[in-house]
Amino acid sequence: MTHELPKLAYSYDSLEPFIDAKTMEVHYSKHHKTYVDKLNAALEKHPELQKKKVEELLMDLNKVPEDIKTAVKNHGGGHFNHTFFWQILKKGTKCKAEIEKAIIKKFGSFDEFKKQFSDKATTLFGSGWVWLVLNKKELEILQTSNQDSPISQNKTPLIALDVWEHAYYLKYQNRRAEYIEAFFNVINWDKVNEFFKK
Ligand code: MN
Repeated sequence: MTHELPKLAYSYDSLEPFIDAKTMEVHYSKHHKTYVDKLNAALEKHPELQKKKVEELLMDLNKVPEDIKTAVKNHGGGHFNHTFFWQILKKGTKCKAEIEKAIIKKFGSFDEFKKQFSDKATTLFGSGWVWLVLNKKELEILQTSNQDSPISQNKTPLIALDVWEHAYYLKYQNRRAEYIEAFFNVINWDKVNEFFKK
């Protein structure tokens, strides 16, 4: 079995103007695809691992043989993180229901959550991701470097924001803060709530 680029559930232009169609196209069909291809290439050296889900590999990186561990962490992480990211993007949903209650309970208000999340995204040095995760049963905002994934720390992702330059540079260039602000218009809160309830 080889890993495959998952189908995108919407068209490249459906997040306009917040995330532009060209960025979506390049990000999905080039960047994400490259992670999938490189993960598959690494696993060719260890066919016994080819039937494992990428989640299984990432949740137990210590079991991955040393010669491909870095490749699995980077490219397997890239594959998992992007697959997750595409799912939590949609225009026009509202933070409501269980996830809204939990956010207010943890951060005091939605605005305070947005501020803390945005600060972590703005201050992340270099390439990486910012996440809202469940750590045990607690909500937590988390930064990860490169393509490191929260599931390798035994944390459950609820929201992901890709802050690699490839995620925003075509439209926003160096204006990362504008991209972060725009991101809050395309969080699929229905999906986030679904992940939260699981
Ligand atoms: Mn990316």
